[in-house]
Amino acid sequence: MRVRNRKGAAEYLAANPQYVILNPEDSKGKWRQVFGNNHPIHIEVGSGKGRFITGMAAQNPDINYIGIDVQLSVLSYALDKVLESGLPNIKLLRVDGSSLTNYFEAGEIDLLYLNFSDPWPKTRHEKRRLTYRSFLETFEQILPPGGEIHFKTDNRGLFEYSLASMSQYGMVLNQVWLDLHASDYEGNVMTEYEEKFSKKGQVIYRLEAQFDKPKKV
Ligand code: SAH
Repeated sequence: MRVRNRKGAAEYLAANPQYVILNPEDSKGKWRQVFGNNHPIHIEVGSGKGRFITGMAAQNPDINYIGIDVQLSVLSYALDKVLESGLPNIKLLRVDGSSLTNYFEAGEIDLLYLNFSDPWPKTRHEKRRLTYRSFLETFEQILPPGGEIHFKTDNRGLFEYSLASMSQYGMVLNQVWLDLHASDYEGNVMTEYEEKFSKKGQVIYRLEAQFDKPKKV
């Protein structure tokens, strides 16, 4: 998601500390305190303008959500939506998905969403894809054993790559949708990109993948 620099975005984010966590390393291991309850915590890495995360938070008041994006201006648009919603179960973080172990303790996150992640189609950019093995390693560390990643995209190349990358990593693909909108999947919350691409007639792919659970002995 490319947006023009928004003037005053940094000041705007800093002025809303109830929603934007500015020193997230201080919250490592304490996210349940940050939210003030023991509800599960779900995160979206690459949350863009925040439509998905606010929609999910509205639909599921007993789950806490954290939207994560590296881009300041993009995150400031997500803040618009969060402020408008007034919801208590949502926070925003401006950090890189590769550094999440600095901000979350092992198993602190219950579920991780990736939606319409940048495809980085050139082979030499493979390591930037959010389903590259180094990202999967990071995500595995902050999820509980047997934790899940739910991923949606319109990009067939990235979807094919992710299926292979996740299975090579040893993840189990619990469910795969090759055309989400034509399926009987219920409760889908659309993202900005999902709306844009599906309007153009592109199919939406989805998968639910699970990290290895410790084997029972
Ligand atoms: N999920 C939104 C936005 C998708 S665009 C939607 O579906 O509409 C992808 C987003 O991922 C961009 O906003 C980009 O800034 C963010 N992003 C890309 N690489 C990232 C990384 N390493 N860590 C965190 N966010 C990242």
